[in-house]
Amino acid sequence: MGAVAAGCAEARGLLQPLLLQATARLDCAADLRVPDLGLTWTSPALRRVLAGAERVTVFAGTVGGAISDAARAAFSAGEYTRAVVLDACGSAAVRALSEQVRSQAEPGYGATAPYSPGYEGWDIADTAGILRALQARRIGLFLSEAHYLVPEKSFCGVIGWVRGGAEAAYGCAVCRLAGCRYRRREVVLA
Ligand code: SF4
Repeated sequence: MGAVAAGCAEARGLLQPLLLQATARLDCAADLRVPDLGLTWTSPALRRVLAGAERVTVFAGTVGGAISDAARAAFSAGEYTRAVVLDACGSAAVRALSEQVRSQAEPGYGATAPYSPGYEGWDIADTAGILRALQARRIGLFLSEAHYLVPEKSFCGVIGWVRGGAEAAYGCAVCRLAGCRYRRREVVLA
C-alpha cells in the first residue's frame, strides 16, 4: 500500500464525526434574526448570502481531535507525507459534514451557499453565539480565546433555504480570485 493510501486508511480510523444543527424561521426585517435560537446578525455580507431565505439551518460539527494529534505526531517524527495526508483527510471530512447539511433541502427549497463567521464581511466573533445556540460543548466543540474552533478540524455556519430557489453555487465555482493556484478543477480519471 502506498503512503497516501495508508494515510487515508489510518485517517478513517481516527475520524470521530459529530454534527449539531437546528433549523428555524429567519426574520430579515432590520437585522437578521433567528428568534427561536436567540440569534441576531448585523453582517451585510451575510444578508446578501441569505437573500430570499425564509428559514435557516445553523450548524456546527467536528471530526474530533485525534486526527490532528496524529498529523502533528507524524510531522514531529519526520513522516511528512503521512502528516499531510492525515491533515488533508481531516479537512475533507469536515467539508463532507457541511455538505451533509446542505443536502437536506426540503422539496421546493434551494440552499444558499454555506457561510461562516470569519468569512468575508461576517465578524468571527459571531461564532460564539452559534455555538451557544447549539450547545456545542455537548460534542466537545468550543472556542479558544482567539475565536478559533477547538478541535481544529471543526466548523460552524449557516445555510439558508429559499422557497422555489435554485441551489446556489459557492466556493471555487464563484470565486473571482484570478490565478489562484488552489482552484478546484474537475478531474476526469481515465
Ligand atoms: S479559487 Fe482559490 S481563493 Fe477562491 S475559493 Fe477556490 S481555493 Fe479559495
